[in-house]
Amino acid sequence: MRTMNEQEQIISEINKLRKEKNAVILAHNYQRPEVQDIADYTGDSLGLSQQAANTEADVIVFCGVHFMAETAYILAPDKTVVMPDDTAGCPLADMITVEALLQRKKELPDHTVVSYINTSAAVKAHSDICCTSSNAVKVIESVPDDKVLYVPDKNLALWANETTDKEIAIWPGFCPTHHYIKPAHIKELKEKHEGAEFMCHPECIPEVTELADFVGSTSAMFRYGKQSKAPTVIVGSEMGMLHKLQKESPEKKFLLANKQVVCPNMKRTTLNKIKDALVNLEPKITVEEGIRQKALISVQRMLEVV
Ligand code: SF4
Repeated sequence: MRTMNEQEQIISEINKLRKEKNAVILAHNYQRPEVQDIADYTGDSLGLSQQAANTEADVIVFCGVHFMAETAYILAPDKTVVMPDDTAGCPLADMITVEALLQRKKELPDHTVVSYINTSAAVKAHSDICCTSSNAVKVIESVPDDKVLYVPDKNLALWANETTDKEIAIWPGFCPTHHYIKPAHIKELKEKHEGAEFMCHPECIPEVTELADFVGSTSAMFRYGKQSKAPTVIVGSEMGMLHKLQKESPEKKFLLANKQVVCPNMKRTTLNKIKDALVNLEPKITVEEGIRQKALISVQRMLEVV
C-alpha cells in the first residue's frame, strides 16, 4: 500500500481541521498552486469579499494579503478571520496613509474619494466608496459627483480615466510587482509566438495596457484566457495566474510576460502555515470597531453597485 507523502499528509490534516472547525479557506488567484488547489474558493478581491460576506462558516482562513483579510473581517465581524501569515502585506496599499489622505481631501474638498480595495481599513474608513479592478469603472460612474479622487493606484486610475467622463485626481501609488512588466517583454514574446494574444491587469503601466488585447481583473482574465482562440496567451499579471489558466485550458500555452512578476507577499502563505492557522486559530485579523463600521459603509456601497 502506498504511504502518503508529506504534502498529502498536510492536506489530509487541513481537510480534517476545516471540517472540525467549520472553516472556509479563501485564496487569491496569486497564491501558490498547492494553496489554490486546497481552497474552497479562489478568486479576485471582489469575489473573495463576496464569499466572506456570505459564508456560513465560523472561521475564514484568508490566503492573500493583509488588506484582503481585513476586508473579510469588515464584512464578517462575527467570524474568526485568520491569516496563515499575517506579515503578508501589500506595498501598494502601504503607499497611502490616513494622514496623507486627509491632507489631500482638504486640498480637494469637492472630490468623491474612491479607494481601491488595496487600502487599509483605516483608509477605507475615510473613503466614500471602494472598488476593485473588476468594478472600478462602474463604481466611478456610479458616484453622483463629477470629480473623483482615486487612491492609491495611479495605473488603474489612468486606465479607468480612458472610459469615464469623470475628472479623476490621481494618487501616485503603484504595484511594484506589475511594474516589472515592460512593453519590450510583450513585443519580444509576440515576435517569438506567432498569433499570440496579450491580456493584462490594469495595475500595469499605460505603455503596457495599450498593447493588450484585453485588460481586466484576474477573474476577467480567466474568462478571456478560456475563450481566446489564440494558441498562446501572454499573461501580464502575477505568476499565480498561470496555474488555473493552464489547468482549465491545457490545449493552450500561457506565458508570463516577465518571469519576475511574482508577488513575494502572496507567496508567503504555505500549506504548513494554513494547517497551523487552523490548529491555533491564529494569527487573527480584526479591525477596531469604530474604523470597521466606517469602512463597512464604503465596502457595502461598492457591493451595492456590482
Ligand atoms: Fe499588492 Fe501588487 Fe502584491 Fe497585489 S501583486 S498584493 S497589488 S504588491
